[in-house]
Amino acid sequence: MLLVLAGLVAREKSLDISSRRSFKNAMYACIACVLMDIASVICIVNASGGNFSIGLTLAICKIYLALLVYQSYAGFLYAANEFLSKDSSRGARRAYIAFAMAGCIGIMIAPIEYYNKGRIVYTYGPSTLVTYAVATVFILLTIRMAFRGKDSTSRRRRRCILLWQGCWILAAIVQFLNPELLLVGFAAAFGMLLVYAELENPHEGVDRITGMFTSNAMSVYLDDLYENKKNFSAIHIRIECRNNDVDYMLERRVMRRIGELMDKDRKSFVFSFADNELTAIFETEDKMRECYRLLTESMDDSLDLQVRLHCCLIPDGRVFMSADEFAQFQNYIDDMILAADCIEAGPDEVGAMRAHMQMLDTITWALTNRRVEVFYQPIYNVEQQKFTSAEALVRIYGHDGNLVMPGSFIPVAETSGLIIPLGIEVFRQVCEFLASGVPQQLGIEYIEVNLSMAQFDKDNPASFIQKAMRKYKVDPSWINLEITETADANTRQVVLRNMDILRQQGISFSLDDFGTGRSNLDYIVNMPVQIIKFDYQFTHWYFGDDKSRKVVEGISSIIRNMGLPIVAEGVENEEQLEAMIKLGASYIQGFYFSKPLSKEMFVEFMTKH
Ligand code: C2E
Ligand code: CA
Ligand code: CA
Repeated sequence: MLLVLAGLVAREKSLDISSRRSFKNAMYACIACVLMDIASVICIVNASGGNFSIGLTLAICKIYLALLVYQSYAGFLYAANEFLSKDSSRGARRAYIAFAMAGCIGIMIAPIEYYNKGRIVYTYGPSTLVTYAVATVFILLTIRMAFRGKDSTSRRRRRCILLWQGCWILAAIVQFLNPELLLVGFAAAFGMLLVYAELENPHEGVDRITGMFTSNAMSVYLDDLYENKKNFSAIHIRIECRNNDVDYMLERRVMRRIGELMDKDRKSFVFSFADNELTAIFETEDKMRECYRLLTESMDDSLDLQVRLHCCLIPDGRVFMSADEFAQFQNYIDDMILAADCIEAGPDEVGAMRAHMQMLDTITWALTNRRVEVFYQPIYNVEQQKFTSAEALVRIYGHDGNLVMPGSFIPVAETSGLIIPLGIEVFRQVCEFLASGVPQQLGIEYIEVNLSMAQFDKDNPASFIQKAMRKYKVDPSWINLEITETADANTRQVVLRNMDILRQQGISFSLDDFGTGRSNLDYIVNMPVQIIKFDYQFTHWYFGDDKSRKVVEGISSIIRNMGLPIVAEGVENEEQLEAMIKLGASYIQGFYFSKPLSKEMFVEFMTKH
């Protein structure tokens, strides 16, 4: 049984993790023990016949007994790996080693005798008793640990360890009561097979299709590396089909090819994710670079034409604090990696991710603790010569009470999806304000609210807007929604559908950030917008060279000819104000009149002006 097991273990490539090492350790101990068991029986038989030295026979018997103790200790260590954390058990571990050593010394010192009559062969005496005592203590300790460590591992794993130790105890009791039944060695070998099949089967962590290790196995492996403070390097690869259509067969073929390449010389461990992502982990940076070179050189031409590889190299795994952070980073770079052939992840990138995570945390905190506040920036109506509208601009407060500006959190909210609850809250506050009737009394005709593309829902178009307006009984003409351009044709369809529904109810739209490259003439022609907002940068173009001024003038006249009013944003001084009015802007927004103000200060400002 043990030889079969040893063969299986040697043949399979398995993750080099501490549980694996302690399993091998237990297996070798078991093999050594059984060999010495057999040797001792042969020696006893020969010594009884006078063909072998009695002293040597007794020594071999004692070595066997000491190995038996070591074996129970190795089993205990294996279980400790499963149930105890590294740090908590360091002191305890020393005590257990000392106890095992003391047991072995006891075995060596205590007298031993053997019995041999016919086919019945066994040893007895104090030395044997010491062995039983110490081994039993370790087995009981293991069992206690398995009962207590409910939270550290799954029920299945606990049950298997209990079964393994139970076999041992049972065999030991039978053998103790009937010394001629040499069952302990058999039970130990059976236990090892059981542990292999249930807990250490290397196929468990292997993906059937790709033959690589699974993402679960990776988290186990990385946990082990971080816990043992071992350094490593990694490559993360994402496969993209060039013809845009996802071709699973092709992806798998490429996956396998890369997997084989990386697996060559067993230099790395390769893990696969989904159908088109894999991560390889190397012992050293050199091996990683070598492998990357090999990879870029040996993708053959036919594959090169069909797929594009995006790689992220991680030269030093220590830039992350834990396996969790490593996994977090893989998620974080998911989109970034598609934009490049190869990126390298060092302290800067990890720092950026931590800042990103922190910002996510701040947004979530602000949302759940009512620390989201809408500010209002007055918009000047040139014709009426007074402020007739305002733009709602969101701010949040961080844990420290500091104001966080949208420039730093809106992009994070957009990529994470938090823009949805955030947008709902902004819209709710605006509706609440409008429902109070105060803005209207102060001469405000409508409030402009920013909408990100991600807020346009495909399945429930504009439902959050309608819900809030119904709840607060807000007249649609009080609201103007600001949108920006999107290059993606699918998103544009969704936006159009949302806009249609809202426009039918009487809500108007502005095209925001015109002139930044995010908005262009095509959008003005094809989208049902009623107002064009010149971006800060575009407004300032006008004061650049002759050529830029002509472009701004030309575009302004096109827009005016289309009958669309212009809002000039970012007007900061008198000169800019005059110029924008001359250019034909119907509305002016900028620091010249006012910065965005809290609701209270906005009311104060409007009352005064
Ligand atoms: P935006 O829509 O272009 O808003 C105008 C930005 O220009 C505001 O920045 C405003 O404070 C700033 N600004 C106004 N006048 C001047 C000026 O004279 N000079 C200069 N230098 N800047 C001026 P803010 O409030 O930091 O907002 C930044 C961006 O965040 C907004 O740009 C908008 O895209 C986004 N945002 C703000 N609130 C929301 C929101 O509720 N939802 C969404 N989806 N995005 C929002
Ligand atoms: Ca805006
Ligand atoms: Ca703008």
